[in-house]
Amino acid sequence: TVLIEARDLALTFGETPALRGASLTVDAGEVLAIMGPSGSGKSTLLHCLAGILTPDSGEVHFNGRRIDTMNEARRSELRRRTFGFVFQFGQLVPELTAEENVALPLLFGGTSRAGALAQARPWFARLGLDGMQRRRSGELSGGQAQRIALARGLVARPQVLFADEPTGALDSLTGEQVMELLVGTAREQGTTVILVTHEPRVAAYADREAVVRDGRASTFAAERIAP
Ligand code: ADP
Ligand code: ADP
Repeated sequence: TVLIEARDLALTFGETPALRGASLTVDAGEVLAIMGPSGSGKSTLLHCLAGILTPDSGEVHFNGRRIDTMNEARRSELRRRTFGFVFQFGQLVPELTAEENVALPLLFGGTSRAGALAQARPWFARLGLDGMQRRRSGELSGGQAQRIALARGLVARPQVLFADEPTGALDSLTGEQVMELLVGTAREQGTTVILVTHEPRVAAYADREAVVRDGRASTFAAERIAP
């Protein structure tokens, strides 16, 4: 079943057309990789699908509801309650410990501090991070920080995880470990994944690929173009 559908999205920044008629569907439970050259519109497309950016024209449907016309308060609520995010550089809050970082989406969702930390802690063993709970981001390697960012993206059991170059700052072995954990955990909890990457080895973890060129998207079964 279709969970997200983008129809004919166009979005121009000043004079720069980032999207020019991008259409895409995402099925519930699948892992979709968005690939394409730098500057082709991948991040912009991801941000439209996640309700972070509003397209100039076109429609974004999530679960049968149009989200591009929702007001900002409702979209922000949707992002908080239903979506999870992982970015290229982890973007942990440096003043907080690792476990407080993981707990953040639960705290934003109204869970008590004690309850949020109790839910955050099991993620450390699961992601091979036992003993790191009280560390701050400055004391973590890039791979550790990214696994913590991954735990933060998944801890609230989002329906969809949006990941923008989640391995872009990591060496290829560490990147593959992060991808295995990302895809393994998402499949376990039934989270749909939409990830932007320019690395074929990362896209190889996906069920399908969308290739964006000049602001337009085409989708393929992953096995058709995976190495
Ligand atoms: P990709 O993720 O494929 O590298 P982006 O979606 O980030 O591509 O960008 C597509 C085009 O839109 C690029 O030319 C980029 O410079 C431009 N762009 C993206 N975001 C902005 C912005 N906030 N302001 C101005 N131009 C932008
Ligand atoms: P990514 O590495 O995910 O493609 P970018 O480095 O293209 O992301 O963009 C990072 C942020 O900067 C995004 O929020 C994007 O919207 C914004 N951005 C990208 N290109 C431009 C630009 N030419 N002018 C202003 N903002 C931009």
